[in-house]
Amino acid sequence: MEERAKNSAYRIKVRKPFKVPVFEKVVCPYCKNQDEFYEVVENVALYVHYLQTEDGRLEPIEEELELYGPTKFYCGKCHADLTFFRKKF
Ligand SMILES: [Zn+2]
Repeated sequence: MEERAKNSAYRIKVRKPFKVPVFEKVVCPYCKNQDEFYEVVENVALYVHYLQTEDGRLEPIEEELELYGPTKFYCGKCHADLTFFRKKF
C-alpha cells in the first residue's frame, strides 16, 4: 500500500468536451433559397428628439429605437416565415 502511494504520481489526461462546430445552413424549405433573408422586428418605438430653433423650427437632433419584438425571420425570395430557423442561431 505504501509502495503504491509512492508511485501514485501519475498523470490523468482530462479531456475537455470537444465541440465540433456544426454549421447547418439555413435553407428555405419552400424555395430552397439559402442566400437572402431578412428580419422584421415587430413593436418598435421610434423616439425623435427635437431642438426648437429661435425661429420656431424643430430640428431633429437624435433618433432612438426601442425594439420590443418579437423578431420574425423571413426568406428573402419567397417571403416565407422562417422564424423557427432563427431560434437555432
Ligand atoms: Zn423561400
